[in-house]
Amino acid sequence: MDKKIKVLMVGYEADPFYKHGGLGDVIGSLPKALSGLNVDCRVVIPYYQAIKEKFISNVFNLKEERIGEFLIHFGEKDEQIGIYKSVLPGSNVIIYFLSNRKNLSYINTRGRNKKIDQFAFFDLAVSHFILWLRSKSKWTPAIVHCNDWHTSLIPFILQKQINTPIPTLLTIHNFEYQGRGSIKVLDLLHIKDKDVVEFKKGTPVTEINILGEGIMDATRVSTVSPNYAKEIINNSNCHGQIYSYMRRREREKGKSNFLSGILNGIDYNIWDSKNDGLIYHRYDISDWQLGKKINKEDLLKSLNLKDRPTFCFIGRMAKQKGIDLLVRAINRIVNLDVNLIFLGDGDSNIKKSLFKAQEKYKDNIRTEFFYSEELAHKLYASSDFILIPSHFEPCGLIQMIAMRYGTLPVASKTGGLKDSIKNNSTGFLFEKNSTRSLVKTIRKALRVYKWNEKYQKMTERAMKTDFSWRKSAKKYKKLYFEILKEESI
Ligand code: ADP
Repeated sequence: MDKKIKVLMVGYEADPFYKHGGLGDVIGSLPKALSGLNVDCRVVIPYYQAIKEKFISNVFNLKEERIGEFLIHFGEKDEQIGIYKSVLPGSNVIIYFLSNRKNLSYINTRGRNKKIDQFAFFDLAVSHFILWLRSKSKWTPAIVHCNDWHTSLIPFILQKQINTPIPTLLTIHNFEYQGRGSIKVLDLLHIKDKDVVEFKKGTPVTEINILGEGIMDATRVSTVSPNYAKEIINNSNCHGQIYSYMRRREREKGKSNFLSGILNGIDYNIWDSKNDGLIYHRYDISDWQLGKKINKEDLLKSLNLKDRPTFCFIGRMAKQKGIDLLVRAINRIVNLDVNLIFLGDGDSNIKKSLFKAQEKYKDNIRTEFFYSEELAHKLYASSDFILIPSHFEPCGLIQMIAMRYGTLPVASKTGGLKDSIKNNSTGFLFEKNSTRSLVKTIRKALRVYKWNEKYQKMTERAMKTDFSWRKSAKKYKKLYFEILKEESI
């Protein structure tokens, strides 16, 4: 048996404690899959007030306990961090919550610098927490696995500020979000100018790109699908400054293979139509036709929609998700006599344009602008198709969940969508950014839907596709070993 590696997984959210998007799914489920592969993986996230309240009202059917505290020096002040401990539901995976009333109770939405200061605080707290773990609980991670910009200062702090050079993996779930803001955040961390050579090239630097800094400092970097990794590494127009950071890293550290792409998986205990308590009627591959039919009847009744082929959209209302394409093509799509149901929250302009479309096509369109796990589950189970017109998509989980529930994706040919959907076999892919291709592909999907035999075969293939975490967790484990080997040379 191989040696059990200790890994500390760090993120800003973890399902079911706190989740806004796919990152929450990953941090809540990958550690469980890793622990099944003999990796001693523990998780740490901020202890938001919302989580505390859910513990108080026993939402998780779990207890948390306060196991200690420590101080960090942030700006001019010493700040106390409380440490709480629990487990990821349905597992023995330990999750720690770091608590500080002023800086970690809520996500600060008042301006980009405030959010950056807040996550710099979290990163400093996590780095000192690692020292605490080592001295008080005799558990030292061999690897710190950081996720997204919110945790991207940890490699820097560990190496250059607290002299604890633990190897790090930085997984980037979306290169669009980089944590760009005032360089003054470094003063709060007491990072000296001479240490931040990366920022000091050329003219005086006033801005920091935290994700870029993480790319420079992490031992290895990964992203969430092989195809997105390729798109990023080869595209000089992709996501602003990131391309320059990649090249700079290659130049300064001489490693051209530092970026890996590992496809995300989904948690089969949560996304399981046979045991899903949130849907109207449970089903599996043996009775999916009846199961989906009666789920759809109940959903359409609850939304006062007629029985038609039904397409849903589930996700953040952000530019990335390509809702502009749907809005532009809305007349042509509605003319195909379909229902369109949108579930999501975010950008108010996107919501306004969808609301206008709903006003115009009251018989066909429903918009639900909020976050609801329950409605999301119901939509996965009840829809015939899921629309994913993203301009770019690092991995995307919704297509995997939908396929598992027998809902075929109609998706842009980009990023992880291309890696996870087999065109005309487990779903339909169209040329990204093209309304023409989108409408043409919806027409094709509808033809297949009517041609029952092909639709059945596609649906069953989609339901059978293995999106469990096991395959991907094995790849992460291999990457951890590579990192350790690299560091020991
Ligand atoms: P991203 O990470 O870009 O937000 P993903 O497709 O990777 O997109 O993951 C989205 C996750 O968030 C899925 O689990 C999806 O069901 C969930 N989700 C997104 N918006 C909502 C919403 N409004 N209500 C419920 N779940 C949502």
